[in-house]
Amino acid sequence: MGELRENFWTLPLAQLTRAEWEALCDGCGRCCLHKIEDADTGAIADTNVACKLLDTGTAQCRDYRNRKAFVPDCLRLTFAIVEDVPWLPSTCAYRLRAAGRDLPHWHYLLTGDRDDVHRAGVSVAGRVVSEDEAGPLEHHIVEWSAPQRDLEEESGA
Ligand code: SF4
Repeated sequence: MGELRENFWTLPLAQLTRAEWEALCDGCGRCCLHKIEDADTGAIADTNVACKLLDTGTAQCRDYRNRKAFVPDCLRLTFAIVEDVPWLPSTCAYRLRAAGRDLPHWHYLLTGDRDDVHRAGVSVAGRVVSEDEAGPLEHHIVEWSAPQRDLEEESGA
């Protein structure tokens, strides 16, 4: 990974280097879960079914570098499309920064500990099943609740 500038996460997304962009991810794993889109309304339902490459215990991709070879439709989140991906969770670092908001207090770039995303109750580690074992997606619709602080911020509390 290349050089990361001090406090690079406070810079506008457009100014980040490739390495800084990659480092912004909090590791929650939410974007590695299947969603179901209603064909009529376009509404998107979340599921607790993970991509086959996701380690369901750690919420890490098991082959991030080569993932496109195994999962051709894996979304590569880029600056150009980040605002066009409506299903990114409200906690997603890319979504927050695209909106000019600060990273959440539990983000590893602020705390120095990558496990804080798990402690904050944000990551999917230990809460999902692999698509290899799940069966029909329709049986796995869930609502992922946002951490308390997010809810307070959204309600203006
Ligand atoms: S939802 Fe955002 S922060 Fe979470 S793993 Fe995906 S890209 Fe990273």
